[in-house]
Amino acid sequence: MPKINNLVKYKSIPILSIAKRLGIKLHGKKAMCFSGHDKNTPSLSFVPEKNIWKCFGCNKKGDSIKLVMEVLKCDFLSAISWISQEFSVYPDNSIFSNYYSSATKEKIVPTKEVDKKALITNTFMPNPEIYKWFIDHCNSVSKKQGIDYLRSHNISLDLEKKYNIKELSHPLYAYKKLVDKWGNEKVYNCGMLAGTINSNFLIWKNYSIIFPFYTSNEVKYIQARQFDRQPKYLNLKGIKKPLFNFDIINSLKQGDSVFFCEGVPDAISLSSLGVAAIGVLGASSFTSDLAKHFLFFKIYVVPDGDNGGEVFKKSIEEIFNSYGKTVYSFKMKDKYDVSDYLSRKKKYD
Ligand SMILES: [Zn+2]
Repeated sequence: MPKINNLVKYKSIPILSIAKRLGIKLHGKKAMCFSGHDKNTPSLSFVPEKNIWKCFGCNKKGDSIKLVMEVLKCDFLSAISWISQEFSVYPDNSIFSNYYSSATKEKIVPTKEVDKKALITNTFMPNPEIYKWFIDHCNSVSKKQGIDYLRSHNISLDLEKKYNIKELSHPLYAYKKLVDKWGNEKVYNCGMLAGTINSNFLIWKNYSIIFPFYTSNEVKYIQARQFDRQPKYLNLKGIKKPLFNFDIINSLKQGDSVFFCEGVPDAISLSSLGVAAIGVLGASSFTSDLAKHFLFFKIYVVPDGDNGGEVFKKSIEEIFNSYGKTVYSFKMKDKYDVSDYLSRKKKYD
């Protein structure tokens, strides 16, 4: 166990505030125990003067950090990181950040009674109901890191609202809430859990920006952008990647232009110009079947200006060429390349 200086800072946060933030319903200094054994009378008791708690039902007890560990079923360092984020306190020793990242690595619970058959026959399926519930419970983007990221990608507050972009601040807490509500298996089956079905972690382990994918008003997919660690974009596990903003084709007529972008942010940014922009999550996720929906439109591809962009452009071209369609292209150095083009086009049309 690494030594963390100034634990006092953590231990001095009022225990009742921590309990509330963990979702414990307080009746004065008492509450029903988080272990679930209480039926009528609350056994969980808090002593605010000493900042400790004890359960007279299961005899568990401890300080604020222990409470977080018990309720979120996490280890010491994860509890510290949760408190850090919730209450904006940070440890003084700088090496903590290293320990933090190793502490948040996936922890797989020893398999006692893993249903092997369930694991083998498991098929991952999108679950719009769970995705919607999750999105509804995420905050609007409020951290500077998230806001800076969006604005630097030309995503205004209006676009943020329009596409219902959210942020995930406390993955461990979100895990707990999701599993309490839906159960491990359902959350696992829709691709949101890391590791095995017994995993204690979501696929998102850090602060992330959350992009919901809507089709016919249902959330069909979620992609997250995390910071400070790779990969930058996190996709759901085992779920086929759909196109972002696919529904836009319902508002188009024959001969209208459709712009295929690499990834979600470019598609959102481009859509602010009033064009139909579709986000593709990697060249390999665009298939001949998907292309069929776009055969009556004029096709533009907007690749990034790098090698990956070149591959992306070629693969989109190949697929549409196989239907005898021409593909026009732009480099996505700056959306204003497209903006500029559109204004000139209007002039000469
Ligand atoms: Zn108890």
